Amino acid sequence: MTARLIDGRAAALELRSRVAEAVAPFRAATGRAPGLAVVLVGEHPPSAAYVRSKVKAMREAGMESFEHRIPAETSEADLIALVDRLNADPSVDGILVQLPLPANVDEQAVLTRVDPAKDVDGFHPVNVGRLSIGLDALVPCTPLGCLMLLQRELGDLSGKEAVVVGRSNIVGKPMAQLLLQANCTVTVAHSRTRDLPDVVRRADVVVAAVGRPELIRGSWLKPGAAVIDVGQERVEQADGTRKLLGDVAFEEAMEVACAITPVPGGVGPMTIACLLRNTMVAAHRREGLREPEGL
Ligand code: NAP
Repeated sequence: MTARLIDGRAAALELRSRVAEAVAPFRAATGRAPGLAVVLVGEHPPSAAYVRSKVKAMREAGMESFEHRIPAETSEADLIALVDRLNADPSVDGILVQLPLPANVDEQAVLTRVDPAKDVDGFHPVNVGRLSIGLDALVPCTPLGCLMLLQRELGDLSGKEAVVVGRSNIVGKPMAQLLLQANCTVTVAHSRTRDLPDVVRRADVVVAAVGRPELIRGSWLKPGAAVIDVGQERVEQADGTRKLLGDVAFEEAMEVACAITPVPGGVGPMTIACLLRNTMVAAHRREGLREPEGL
């Protein structure tokens, strides 16, 4: 069997164009474009690159973005004061505090300060709780993008055995909640899971969010499984170049799976598209407008 490639770039472009189409009606109703504030603390180069691509994507969709680049030495109190100002700013619909934050700052203290209505990353306990009890919530972008890719590829996920490898707050746990809501039977595996290959082997749907390059081998997969590879780690090759690798041994998995996301070009582009989507949804909810169809 040769698996189908799940084209995250194409899916992300479709979602981004649906978001962009919703800007003009929003502007007509409110006199402004939806706005996202992005807070980048310090000079962490990968974070700066993520922020650049998020801001670029916002602008391309015709949405506002407000960048706040602040020095690594900024105190927690000053960072919280900035979040408070953004919470109070009516032109800001979404607030994204790029992680990781410097060690002197309590990440949770900052994230829980974000107004849940503007929490487009879906990290606030209010949104985490709402997701877990099945209420409308702003859902973390990466797992939301994974769910969209799966539904686009497989249609109804009802009754499928899903195994999520990884239990982080930003990917694994919300992914499990979303799959449960989609009526999958969900197992969450982690570093203490016994017999991980056996656990993975029972899955119709595997979502790998581990950060261990090529941990999951082709021989671990049930033939015909759908595989979403969230992992992206830069690994030095024998010739000294660096290659982006996922958590799944891609070539091996291609022989066994029915469909798989490539790395890069799978989950990554959907994460940014879902950030635009969440900002658009937050903007409509804040203005009391009906949410656009198809988001
Ligand atoms: P994380 O916070 O480090 O969590 C990793 C999880 O994997 C933990 O739950 C850990 O278990 C589990 N784990 C570690 N080693 C394991 C092993 N040998 N067997 C089974 N489970 C193991 O990572 P994350 O933030 O979720 O990110 C995971 C990966 O996704 C990274 O490569 C990251 O770069 C990537 N990522 C990509 C995107 C994107 O947009 N494409 C977005 C976010 C993250 P314990 O809980 O027991 O420690």
